[in-house]
Amino acid sequence: MAELLLKTDSLTKIYKKHKAVNAVSMHVERGAVYGFIGKNGAGKTTFMKMIAGLANPTSGSIALFGRTGSELAEVRSKLGCLIEAPGIYPKLTAFENMQLKCLALHRYSKEYVYELLNLVGLANTGKKKSGHFSLGMRQRLGIALALVAEPEMMVLDEPINGLDPQGIVEVRDTIHRLSSERGITVLISSHILDELSKIATHYGIINNGELIRELSSEQLVAECSSSLEITVKNASTHAADVLHRLGVEFRIVDGDRISVTQGIERSAEINTALVQNGFAVSELTVHKAALEDYYLSLTGGGSNA
Ligand code: ATP
Repeated sequence: MAELLLKTDSLTKIYKKHKAVNAVSMHVERGAVYGFIGKNGAGKTTFMKMIAGLANPTSGSIALFGRTGSELAEVRSKLGCLIEAPGIYPKLTAFENMQLKCLALHRYSKEYVYELLNLVGLANTGKKKSGHFSLGMRQRLGIALALVAEPEMMVLDEPINGLDPQGIVEVRDTIHRLSSERGITVLISSHILDELSKIATHYGIINNGELIRELSSEQLVAECSSSLEITVKNASTHAADVLHRLGVEFRIVDGDRISVTQGIERSAEINTALVQNGFAVSELTVHKAALEDYYLSLTGGGSNA
C-alpha cells in the first residue's frame, strides 16, 4: 500500500450535542487527489478544520505524514490549506499579494512569484486589483498563496463552489497541475460528485458526519456500471439458457437485445460463452449510471442542513 499522508482514526467533533463529524477514519495516500464529497452541512469543513489545526477534535486521532499528537504542529508546515475565504488583500494585485506572502516566509524572488502565478494561470493579471477578481480567480490566488510554503499536501474546502462553468474548468485545471506537475497530494471537498470526477483518484463520501464509503476512482466506475447491453441475433430462450448456466442476472429486452444486470464485470466470459454456443454478438456495451445518481443512492438524497 502507498504511503499514507493523512490517516484519521474515529475522528469526532461534537458541537454541544450535535456530532458534526462522527468517528471518521479517512486514508489519503501520497499522490492522491482525494475528493471529499458530502451535502451542505455533512461535516466536510469541520473535518478539514481539524486536519488544519483550526478546530480541536472531541475524540479520535489524526496522523499526518506519519506523525501524531504533539508532533502534528510541526508537520502541519507541509500542509497548504484553503478553508473558507482565502486571506487576500483586495487593494493589492495578484503579484503584490504573492510578494507579501513570500517576503513573510523569506522566500521572495520575482521569478518564484511568477512561477506560482503561472501555475495557477494568473501571471497576466497585471495591475488589476484582486478585489476586482472573479471568484474563480480569487480561489486560484488563494491556492498560489498556499503554495508559497511549498506544501506536500493541499487541503481545499469547496474551491469550486459558486463558480461559473469557466471558473470551474480553470480551478480544476489548476488542481490537476498541482498533482501532475508538482506531485502535491490534494484533499478537496465538494458537494457535487460530478465536478470532482474528472480529477479525483479517490473518494470519501460523508453523510451526516459519517464517512459512509471510501473508494478509488476505478471502484467508483465499476459500481456505477448499471447494466451490460448485448446485441445478439435471435436472443432466443436458447441464449437465455447460456446465460442461466453462467449464473448472471438478465432480461431479454426484445428479439435482438439482452440486458445483464448482475455479473457485468464478467462481460468477456459472457461474450465468449454466447459466441461458443453459436450466437453472433454484434455489440456489448456497459451502461453507466450517472455519478450523481450513485451518490444519491448512498446518501439518500435531500439535505443534511
Ligand atoms: P458546508 O458545505 O455547508 O460548509 P460542510 O459539509 O462543510 O457543509 P460543516 O460546515 O462542517 O459542514 O458543518 C457540519 C455541521 O456542524 C452543521 O450542522 C453545522 O451547522 C455544524 N457546525 C459547524 N460549525 C459549527 C460551530 N462552530 N458551532 C456549532 N455547530 C457548528
